[in-house]
Amino acid sequence: MSESSRIRILDPRLANQIAAGEVVERPASVVKEIVENAIDAGSQRIEVELEAGGSRLIRVRDDGIGIGEEDLPLALSRHATSKIASLEDLEDVSSLGFRGEALASISSVSRLELISNAADDPAGGWRVVAEGRQMEPRVTPAPHPRGTSVLVRDLFFNTPARRKFLRTEKTEFGHVEEAFRRLALSRFDIAWVLRHNQKVVHQLPAVASDQAGRERRIGSLLSRRFLDEALHVDLEATGLRLWGWVGQPTHSRAQADQQYFFVNGRIVRDRLVAHAIRQAYRDVMFHGRHPVFVLYLELDPRVVDVNVHPTKHEVRFRDGRLVHDFLFSSLHRALASVKPNDAVAESG
Ligand code: ADP
Ligand code: MG
Repeated sequence: MSESSRIRILDPRLANQIAAGEVVERPASVVKEIVENAIDAGSQRIEVELEAGGSRLIRVRDDGIGIGEEDLPLALSRHATSKIASLEDLEDVSSLGFRGEALASISSVSRLELISNAADDPAGGWRVVAEGRQMEPRVTPAPHPRGTSVLVRDLFFNTPARRKFLRTEKTEFGHVEEAFRRLALSRFDIAWVLRHNQKVVHQLPAVASDQAGRERRIGSLLSRRFLDEALHVDLEATGLRLWGWVGQPTHSRAQADQQYFFVNGRIVRDRLVAHAIRQAYRDVMFHGRHPVFVLYLELDPRVVDVNVHPTKHEVRFRDGRLVHDFLFSSLHRALASVKPNDAVAESG
């Protein structure tokens, strides 16, 4: 290399570790990425198991379409995805993933094992192991029922600076449980299990599209009290549908910690959405208090851009004004029916 040449291409392992900095913050982010893959694989049942808050072991087992032998090493490479192939696909992407980065990133900062079977023969599975991405992944036969198991051991074992940022087992598990709650709220039709240190924390059967079944799940993930007092909404206008449960103003919280908003099945934190909801509650809630809600917005995927940030928590609506006004007016109307003065007027 000559004196004047200072720029070089990063070795792939280092590039993956840098990318991991964006999406892999703690065990909860690993759980989110791996479970999203299980959802994208069409699974009907997803089991999440952790040891030591997830820093020792995260295991996610699904019964989805599985990964075939030739695809297994590819699944671990960066920018390798089965979900999109062109810019047009990105325009109306319906899968949760599409960047092809999660497994490459996670495998660069942990000991990752992938066991999968894309066939119906239970003896037909394959395993691939990647340890800090040091070795070329080697594929060996391993029996597994149709579907995939991902095991992530010793997260950040090779990036001590990151490992130092992990909090206590209890705190890390709290974050994982919150991630699990969001995922389980995003898909009622999937059965879920969450285990920590061999104990079952949540066991949620799949529910059909009936309101009672969904309310049972919300009751066990959030609280029965929220549901008992919540208003069920289901409104549609101009290609937008909003459904879900909004808490009564009396069920407010000091923090905005129980607010779940999904856009086409993806949990989202969006300033425009937050503003519309805040406005709708403005007249009925004490200043500084926060409502509890579980809401689902459904709209044409082509009018919302999910490729804004690697963790995909942010979205960009093509017509933000329309979405804002629809949310505000729907919720304002629903909440107007429970304003204290109305209640008095009704009973008097
Ligand atoms: P992305 O989800 O963005 O495509 P990932 O790195 O998360 O990228 O996964 C890479 C690929 O591995 C996916 O596109 C998919 O083909 C495959 N894959 C990962 N997890 C699973 C799973 N649980 N079941 C089936 N295929 C999977
Ligand atoms: Mg993914």
